[in-house]
Amino acid sequence: MDKLSGRTALVTGSSRGIGRATAVGLAREGALVAVHYAHNKQGAQETVELIEKDGGRAFTVGAELGVPGDIDQLFRGLEAGLKQHTGKTTLDILVNNAGETLPGGAAPEAVSAEQFDKLFAVNAKAPFFIAQRALGLIPDGGRVINISSGLTRVANPSQMVYAMTKGAVEQLSRHFARHLAPRGITVNTVAPGITDNGNAIFKIPEVREQMSQLSAFKRIGEPEDVADAVVFLATDEARWITGAFLDATGGSLLG
Ligand code: NDP
Repeated sequence: MDKLSGRTALVTGSSRGIGRATAVGLAREGALVAVHYAHNKQGAQETVELIEKDGGRAFTVGAELGVPGDIDQLFRGLEAGLKQHTGKTTLDILVNNAGETLPGGAAPEAVSAEQFDKLFAVNAKAPFFIAQRALGLIPDGGRVINISSGLTRVANPSQMVYAMTKGAVEQLSRHFARHLAPRGITVNTVAPGITDNGNAIFKIPEVREQMSQLSAFKRIGEPEDVADAVVFLATDEARWITGAFLDATGGSLLG
C-alpha cells in the first residue's frame, strides 16, 4: 500500500464525494494530499481526519474556483502547505476533480448566459489554469488526471452545458498529454457515471432504482469505484497510459 510514498497530490473538490474518496485513496498509497474545498471547510477537515485515522498525511486548502484570483489563492495555500510538510513545493499528482452542474438540469432554452459562464469558469477554465500553474511544480514523471463525465458520450439535453464543459476537459487532457509527454508526465481523463456523492437525491428509493438501471451492473457507483481508477492512473503502473479516456461509468456507455 505504498505505491505513492514520497509523492504529493492536489485533489480539487475533495471535501466530499468522488474527490474525498480520491484523496483517501491516494493517501492510502502513501501520498501527502492537499484536500481542496470551496466553502465546506468542515468537510475538507473531515477528509483530512479520515486520512490521518488511516495513518496518512493531508492538509486543507480553501479556494473558490471560477472567481477572480482563484488560481492565485489556490496555489498560495497549496505551496504553503507543501512547504510546511515537505520543505519544498513539488507537486507530483494533480487531480482536477472539482465541478458543478445546474442542479436538476435545465432545458437548453432556459440556460442563462450567467449560468453558462459560471459552469465554464468552474469546470473548464479553472482546470486549464490550475494545470498551467501546476506545471511549474510538477516534476518529470508526474501525473495529471482530469475528471469528466459519461455525459460526453450520451446526449442529455437538460445537462447540455455541463456536458460541453466536460468535453472541454477531455480536450485539455488530450492536448496536455502531447505537450507534456517529453517530460514523462501523463495526462488522462476519468469519466464517472452516476455516482452516489451523498446528495439527497440518492436517498430517494425510486430515483435510486431508476439510476441503477443505467449501469450494466445495475447499481449506482460509489465514490471509491471512481477513485480507484484515478489512483491507478497516478501510480507507476500507469506510466504508458496518456491521453486516455477512462470510462469509469460501470458500463453505462455500453448501450
Ligand atoms: P460533489 O458535488 O459531491 O462535490 C463537489 C466538490 O467540488 C466539493 O468538494 C466542492 O467544494 C467542490 N466545488 C464545487 N464547486 C466549486 C467551486 N466553484 N470552487 C471550488 N470548489 C468547488 O462532486 P461529485 O463527487 O459528485 O463529483 C466530482 C466530479 O465528478 C465533478 O467534476 C463531477 O462533474 C464529476 N462527475 C460526477 C458524477 C456523479 O454522479 N456524482 C457523474 C459524472 C461526473 P465545497 O464542498 O467546498 O463546496
